[in-house]
Parts: sequence; C-alpha cells; structure tokens
Amino acid sequence: MDDAGRGISSAGRRRHGGRSRHAAARGARLGRRAAVAVQPAGQSVLQPASVTTRLSCCDRADEGSRVKPLTEQDIRGSFVNATDEQLARLPIPGIHETLWDEREFLGWRDPQASHLGYIVHWMHDRPTGIVLRAASGGLRPGIAAMCSFCHSSQPATQVRMFSAPRAGDAGRNGNTIGSYICDDLACSLLIRIVPPHAQSSEHIAERADALLTRVHNFTATVMKTA
Ligand SMILES: [Zn+2]
Repeated sequence: MDDAGRGISSAGRRRHGGRSRHAAARGARLGRRAAVAVQPAGQSVLQPASVTTRLSCCDRADEGSRVKPLTEQDIRGSFVNATDEQLARLPIPGIHETLWDEREFLGWRDPQASHLGYIVHWMHDRPTGIVLRAASGGLRPGIAAMCSFCHSSQPATQVRMFSAPRAGDAGRNGNTIGSYICDDLACSLLIRIVPPHAQSSEHIAERADALLTRVHNFTATVMKTA
C-alpha cells in the first residue's frame, strides 16, 4: 500500500452536497452516455447505473500513447495482473458508446463483483489493463478526499482505496499497490466537469495530461516486478 493514507484532505472538512448532487452534475454533463451496458462473459447485458465507461487516449510522445479506440479483444488481452478466473469472467464495458477522444483511460466497476474494478489505457502503444480491488470500508462521510489520479477534491464517499496486485510472482505472493481513486473510476469525466471560469480547453488539456501521467506511473509501478 505505497500510497495508503494519501489523498485525504483533513483541511477539507466542509460538507459537500453528497453523492446525489455529484451524480447529478455528472449526469448533466454526461447526458446521452450516462447509461453504459456491461456484458459479463457469457451473460446478458446489464445496465448498472454505477458503471461508467471511459477510455484512454492522449498524444504523448514520451509514453507512446494516442487516441485510439479499444476493441473487446484489446481489452481482454491487456491485463497484466489478472488471474485466469478474473479474465474468464471479465465484464466488457459499453465501448461502442465511448467518446474516445475524451478519455485518458477506460475504467469500470464490475456489476457482478462489486469489489472489482478495471482500468485499461494505452501505454507504449499497447493496451494495458489493471485489475483493481476496492477496499471494503469506505472513507468517513463528511470529509473531503482527493483522487490520486485526477486530483479532484470531492466528498470522501466518492473516493475509495483500491489495491492492485503487482504483475507476476510479486502479485501472486500478495504484493499490492494501493491508491485512493474515484469510486466509479470515472476520472476522465470528472476533469471535464469544471466551473465556467475554468472551462478552457487548455485547462482541461493540462488536467488530462496530468491524469494520464499519473495513471501511467501507477501502471508502471504495478508492472515493476524487480
Ligand atoms: Zn479521479
């Protein structure tokens, strides 16, 4: 848990509007793409309200990333820390509804196994996926917390500790990397929900670039097996 304890703002104890207001803001921004179908392997299509689709992108010469849609095959073959069992039951998000040019990574929660989440992004020109396990206990309501990916400050109930098994033997031996991340793994959406005074394309591009860098760093740490 390298980052355990990080991201909680003890200074931000003001009360927020709670999940409903936050969800409403997202819903207003998301509009037509708010409902995303997730199809677990071998099962019928589900439409859980909490599942959000998003995706990966960004033209970063240093990382080799670029805006490029992911196929189901890309997603299934991308995971570096998944068990065979997890891959067999992997739910595929609604990639056909995804606005790829507004995503730094594709992130979604598992509607059948609520403790699991998944992120996939392009890294060195390859789709790279990470399985995340959500901590069972949430943060204390009434305080503010910050997502370590998108750096958005928000009610603590909307941020959760996730742990990712390291790739390879380290992960099989129980070695994990932990970080506080938006509960719905929808960072790409959140950074695009901004106050009017900050609603410049440059500002969003800066946040998107920073978000992608942090996601890359997280994945690189998960993949570091030495
Ligand atoms: Zn976030």
